[in-house]
Amino acid sequence: MSPSVLIGIDLGGTNVRVGAVSRQGEVLAWAEAPIEASRGPQAGLQRISGLIEQVLAETRGGALMGIGMGATGPIDRQRGSIQNPYTLPTWEDVPIVQPLRERFGVPVALENDADAAALGEAWVGAGRDRERVLMVTVGTGIGSAFIYRGEVYRGVGGAHPEAGHLVLDMNGPPCYCGARGCWESLAAGPAIARRAQALAQGAPTIMLDLAGGRLESIDARVVVMAAQAGDALAQRVVQETAAYLALGLVNLLIAFLPDVVILGGGVMRAYPVFAPYLHSMIKRHSVVVPLDAVQLEVARLGVQAGAVGAAYAALKLIKGG
Ligand SMILES: [Zn+2]
Repeated sequence: MSPSVLIGIDLGGTNVRVGAVSRQGEVLAWAEAPIEASRGPQAGLQRISGLIEQVLAETRGGALMGIGMGATGPIDRQRGSIQNPYTLPTWEDVPIVQPLRERFGVPVALENDADAAALGEAWVGAGRDRERVLMVTVGTGIGSAFIYRGEVYRGVGGAHPEAGHLVLDMNGPPCYCGARGCWESLAAGPAIARRAQALAQGAPTIMLDLAGGRLESIDARVVVMAAQAGDALAQRVVQETAAYLALGLVNLLIAFLPDVVILGGGVMRAYPVFAPYLHSMIKRHSVVVPLDAVQLEVARLGVQAGAVGAAYAALKLIKGG
């Protein structure tokens, strides 16, 4: 008998990643390509279908059971469509579930990309065998997802909660959402860059050298490198950013008390630089609730988390869960 295979798709604004995944969460075959959204949804769908066929062929006769997609939001799960002209130009009200179902003849699940990544980590990554898994992704923005007993927590009308827009400073920098001082406008990659660029003007720092002498090229990666090399200004930026990161985390942990919080995203590749600040803030707030019992883990599945989690969503759909 040929082994059964799930397809997991991670559709981002730049690339689409497709994995053939076993029922146990192992990635059997993998392919990715630029999505080139501006060429239109039809071309995108063709590319996705081509990648699916490619990874299926690599499983040598694996029997396709189901397909899951985690897509950069907003999505409409009820209608199985993507409404995202913001990061996928031209992709406005694009049905995705039905065309894939018709083409491959299997059930198709659709999830928000942050939820898909969290499902992946909860299934076979850093949140394996835990009941309450909170995932926080820190990159260009801050994304969040909460998995409870293997299920995505959904808000009213199925909406995806966005902890990146928790307000931590009502007089803080303006955010594109219309509020001021949102968590992501204080602690994500662009906030780190902005803070560092403001401090580096006319002050002695190796950040400028690491950025090729261009103030505007100082980014989060440069700040982390400089901080690790002992640069005082970079360390100050790390410390200020870590304070906001920790404050947002503490607020979330106090509200949800998960078993584990999984930290992912580009900025969290430098987790060891931020960890001491996060731990000390969490300790300080462990008075009325046992925050120190919450484990902090770094995401383990890397770029495959979204596709693996999407495959899990497909498996759940097949099982009727
Ligand atoms: Zn905001």
